[in-house]
Order: sequence, then C-alpha cells, then structure tokens
Amino acid sequence: PSALDRDQMQGLRGIREFLKVRTSYDVLPLSFRLVVLDNDLLIKKSLNILIQNGIVSAPLWDSRNSTFAGLLTSTDYINVIQYYCQFPDEIDQVDQFRLSSLRDIERAIGVLPLETVSVHPMRPLYEACRRMLKTRARRIPLVDVDDETGREMVVSVITQYRILKFIAVNNEKHTILLKKPVRDIGLGTYTNLATSTMNSSVLDVIHLMVKHNISAVPIVDESNKVLNVFEAVDVIPCIKGGAYDELTSSVGDALSKRAEEFPGIYTCSEDDRLDAIFDTIRRSRVHRLIVVDDDNRLRGIISLSDILKYVLLFGEEEDDIRAG
Ligand code: ATP
Repeated sequence: PSALDRDQMQGLRGIREFLKVRTSYDVLPLSFRLVVLDNDLLIKKSLNILIQNGIVSAPLWDSRNSTFAGLLTSTDYINVIQYYCQFPDEIDQVDQFRLSSLRDIERAIGVLPLETVSVHPMRPLYEACRRMLKTRARRIPLVDVDDETGREMVVSVITQYRILKFIAVNNEKHTILLKKPVRDIGLGTYTNLATSTMNSSVLDVIHLMVKHNISAVPIVDESNKVLNVFEAVDVIPCIKGGAYDELTSSVGDALSKRAEEFPGIYTCSEDDRLDAIFDTIRRSRVHRLIVVDDDNRLRGIISLSDILKYVLLFGEEEDDIRAG
C-alpha cells in the first residue's frame, strides 16, 4: 500500500479507537434543552411546537405508563401524508390524530415500523454508531433509568451529525490523515440518483423519497445543474396548519418557506478529500454533501451515513482477520 493508503488506514483506526473510549454522554453539550412531546398531543399541534422550537424531531412520552414511546421524526409526517393520499376522504380524521396514532397510521398504509433502538448514554460511542448503521436509524434516543424512581428517562438524542461533528472537533489529529479523494474511496452514491425539478409538486418529491428510502432529493435544472435540495424535514412547514391540499404546489414554493436560519446546502467535488469534508462538518451544520462537477452539475450525493459507514467499517473485515 502507498503512504496515502497507510495514512488513511491509520486515521480511520485512530477515529475508531477514539469512538471506543468515548461515550454518547461525552457528545452532549454541557447544558442543553430537550423537548419531549406527550404521546396524547394532536399531530397537528406537534408541528407547531417543532417549528417554534426550531427542531425537526422529538422523543415521545407516554404519560399514562411513564415510559418512553419512541421518536417523532419527519418520517412520521411523511407517513401521515401518505395516509392522507390513500384515504383523502378522511381529512377530518387526520386532523384529529394524536401522536399515539402514528403506529396505526403505519399499519394502515402498510409500512414497517422503524425499529426503536435506544442506547444507554454511558455505553461506548462506537456501539451507538454500529447500532445506527445496523438499524439505519439516523438518530437514537439515549435512555437511562432514574435511580430513585426506577423509571426510564430520555436524556437526549444522538444523531449522525452530532457524532461526526464530535469527531471533527475533537479528533483532528486523525481526520487530517484522511487524504484520499472521495473518488478513490467510492464515498457516496453516483448512480440512479433520485432528482426532481423546481416545477414538480411537493407530493411528487415525497413519493420519490418514500420509493427510494432517502431523505433528500437534489433539485436540478434541465442541464442537471444543482439548484437546491428538498429534504424530508422540509415537509414540516408544508403541512403546518393541516394544509395537506397544498402539497400539490411546487417545490419552488415550498423551499421559499424555509426558516430564516436555514444553513444552506453544501457541495463538494469528487477530488475533495475526507479531511476537507471533516473541515466542513467542523465549521457548519452539514446534513449531506451534494457532489458536483466544475459546472455545478450533479455527480452524486454523500450522506452522513455514507461517511459514518466508511469511517467505521472500511477495511474492518481485513483487520478482524488479521487480529485472528
Ligand atoms: P440522512 O441524511 O437522513 O442520513 P439520506 O437519505 O440523505 O438521509 P441515507 O438514508 O443515509 O441518506 O441514504 C441512503 C443511501 O442513499 C446513501 O448511500 C446515499 O448516498 C443514497 N442517497 C441519498 N440521497 C439519494 C438520492 N437523492 N438519490 C440516490 N441515492 C441517494
């Protein structure tokens, strides 16, 4: 192997060791707030609460049994939209749905419920990462048991973004070793990309996300130049106030409803190296990178799970074999 390969492998091993000696608890900021929603809340009201708090997800609490009841994410709202599409006559009922009905909605539209995995905050971070990759969960609640009451409590939620940010901020000595270009390590997806245009309806894009099991669709023009990205979380402002019939409006209109503090989209080229991507993660709130050529034409997509997967798993089997 070349010096480049050796450095790359050394960097990856360094990061993996780091993740094994840190816990999920270490990733949490010293002080933070956690918005937990009661399972009895109307779905309609949950939208406003997320928007007002500038968040896109929240743990659910079953106050009757004092137990953690799962994690509310944009996927749940997309399920509600699918339900509305399949049973358009039931719009009045959709308005009355509570968060506790989400499982019934999944059943009605025939989607498999997401596995609700949680981890204990004091377990190694490496374990949380492996579990994320295994279950495809993009966020995992940290659940602890209260010593006094013996009850479950949700400490916080850990996301792929937070983990990668934590690596980027605290482990620069290893990330700088990752000097191989994205092209050489095959990071991301470059074929069968799901894309859409500004004139498509929001509903079309949502169906595309469901069909491909993805949470972001690049919006391109007729020459495949990237104009924007529609993300699963963008559906939240779209259906605020129960305006399901407006989902037939265009992507362009919907994207103009984004919050003022929207961080923007991030692009990179196939010649960029992983160390540069970690720099971007260190500095900004990146949720995916759109790979473009010199003319801003779409080449591919690098999701956070692609990065996490590479960082955790690349060359792993070989290592295992060598370790005997
Ligand atoms: P998130 O950012 O929440 O992790 P995502 O949909 O962007 O969600 P993943 O769910 O990790 O990303 O994506 C699964 C796989 O699909 C990844 O390998 C990613 O590269 C690929 N992918 C993401 N978006 C698209 C798209 N629009 N077209 C084709 N493939 C995509």
